Amino acid sequence: MLKFISLGSGSSGNSYLLKSNEGCILIDAGINARTMKKHFKEVGLSLDDIDAIFVTHDHADHIKALCAFTNDMKIPVHTTELVHRGISRNHCLSAKICPDSVRFINKGETFTIGDMKITPFEVPHDSSDCVGYSVVCNDVTFCLITDAGHVTPLIEQNVAAANYLVLESNHDEDMLMMGPYSAYLKGRIRGGKGHLSNKTAATLIAEHATPKLRHVWLCHLSEENNHPELARKTVESVLRSYGIIIGTDFYVEILKRKAHSGIYELT
Ligand SMILES: [Zn+2]
Ligand SMILES: [Zn+2]
Repeated sequence: MLKFISLGSGSSGNSYLLKSNEGCILIDAGINARTMKKHFKEVGLSLDDIDAIFVTHDHADHIKALCAFTNDMKIPVHTTELVHRGISRNHCLSAKICPDSVRFINKGETFTIGDMKITPFEVPHDSSDCVGYSVVCNDVTFCLITDAGHVTPLIEQNVAAANYLVLESNHDEDMLMMGPYSAYLKGRIRGGKGHLSNKTAATLIAEHATPKLRHVWLCHLSEENNHPELARKTVESVLRSYGIIIGTDFYVEILKRKAHSGIYELT
C-alpha cells in the first residue's frame, strides 16, 4: 500500500514523502533535517527509511536541506541535469552536493524505486528547470505538480491520470494584486513561469479530473497572498459550477505550511 505524508508546504519549505511496501522516497527537501526528523518521529518513521530523494526544481524552498540528506546520510538525489546545475550554483546551500549522491533523471523516462514507478514531466517555472512527478504503485497513480507558471497539455494529462493529486494553489488573484509585493514580483508570480492561482488550479481540476480521482491536496499556498479558507472556498465554488461536489466526487484538503499532514493511505 502506498502512503503519503506532507512534511510542510509553502515558500518556507516543501517536502513530501511517499512510502510503499518496497520503497520510500522524498519529493523535495526544503525543510531542515532537524524539523524533518521531528516530523518523521511523530508519524513513526525514521530518516533512515528514505531510499531516494527526487527534486522538482532548484529554488531554495525545495532544496535547502539536500546536503544534510545526501552528504551526511548518503541518500541518493535524483534531478534533471539542468536542475542539478542550478543546485550547484545556488548559494542557499551550505555545501556542495557530493557528486556520488547525484542520479540524473530525464523528463518522460520512468525510474523505479522498489514497487514505485516514478516519471518526471515538464512544468513551466522560472527555475533552471522544473518537473512534476507521476508515481505509479500497483493500481494507484499519485501526481504532484507544484511551482507551475501555467497549465500545459502535459499537466492536464497527468491530472487526468491521477487517483491522488497534490496541486499548487499558490495565490488568490485579488489578494496578490492588492497585496504588498512589488509590481515586479506580482508580475513574476502571475507570469507564465510563476505560480498557479487558486482559480487556475480549480479550473484545471474541474476540467481534467476523471471519476478515478479520489483526493486532492492543495499545496504551496502563499502566506501573504492566500488564505487556506479562501483557497478552499474558491476551489469549492469553481468545482460546484462544473457540477463537482467536494466530499462526494473526491476530497480536497489544504496542506499546512509548517506541520506534517499525518499519514494518508492511498488505496
Ligand atoms: Zn519555485
Ligand atoms: Zn516553491
